[in-house]
Amino acid sequence: MHFIFFLLLLFYPTCFLARTTPPATTMISTVNHHNSTWSTFGKFIDTSKGSHVSGISDLKNYMQRFGYLQVSETSINDEFNEEFEVAITRYQRKLGLTVTGKLDTETISQMTVPRCGVRDTAPPLNTHAIQHYKYFKGKPRWSRAMPTTLTYAFSPNNIISSVNLSDIKVIFRRAFSRWSSVIPVNFTEAEDYGFSDIKIGFYNGDHDDGEPFDGVLGVLAHGFSPESGRLHLDAAETWAVDFEREKSAVAIDLESVAIHEIGHVLGLAHSSVKESVMYPSLKPREKKTDLKVDDIEGIQQLYGSNPNFNIEALAQSDTSSNRGVGSKIELRLSWWTIAFAMVLIACVNIKG
Ligand SMILES: [Zn+2]
Ligand SMILES: [Zn+2]
Repeated sequence: MHFIFFLLLLFYPTCFLARTTPPATTMISTVNHHNSTWSTFGKFIDTSKGSHVSGISDLKNYMQRFGYLQVSETSINDEFNEEFEVAITRYQRKLGLTVTGKLDTETISQMTVPRCGVRDTAPPLNTHAIQHYKYFKGKPRWSRAMPTTLTYAFSPNNIISSVNLSDIKVIFRRAFSRWSSVIPVNFTEAEDYGFSDIKIGFYNGDHDDGEPFDGVLGVLAHGFSPESGRLHLDAAETWAVDFEREKSAVAIDLESVAIHEIGHVLGLAHSSVKESVMYPSLKPREKKTDLKVDDIEGIQQLYGSNPNFNIEALAQSDTSSNRGVGSKIELRLSWWTIAFAMVLIACVNIKG
């Protein structure tokens, strides 16, 4: 009897990994000073298929904008139709929400959170595979022999005055070092913007790349897939380098966004893992600066590992700031503890 229980426990880890925890109920919070139409989405909660509600077209445009709906612009209307239901289902699956196909509170709440402008790679319907890191179509990467060095520079004409350039440089140096610590790629700041591999700039509204920014919140930034090197941030955001100094309720953490967009520049698309830095959304005043196991596994598949990188040493050196890495190891440890305890019980039982 104990033996069967022990066997069950041995297989328990895989069951645990495949299970998705039910998300906690999230309250809709409307943020003031919101320029985009997303903040008005709250009024569509519990709208269901077959209904015709004025403004549903805004939600359809959102789904179209981020890769969940592919219809002609002219056919976007206010009818909650089958296509829209499919789009919602895909969105829920990609974002790791409860899949209902309905405009429930959790879904609407997620849609109002500021996010990256890069389209999501929507998962196929009816897939129960665990969603994790993703690549752009064709899996592009910087095609150079490893190890290599990529240069980056800031656009001299597209810079913001609200944050010192020297502070911005410190933030980006730190953001690049997060990635270089796990892959054999170094990053160095170049003086010559025109010849640098990675070109960073702050832009307002339409800036001639077909991906216009939308003012405060909404879309925060975007990064292009390899080997474009373009990394653009919405100049209209209240960018923060330190939340102690920047008290605004709509402040966005520059470092978190920089790390995420560098991930795109290197070849990672959006992940479904909520804790990962490659998850598409970021709330105002939220900080997400530690690469998680999902981000690390994704980027190392493209470039290999930095020879100095040791996932276990990383977890031991600072479990508080590398919680993603640490928790996976802790989880493994706890399974061994349980298995060991079961062996002990079984031994005692045999003796008795
Ligand atoms: Zn993104
Ligand atoms: Zn752009």
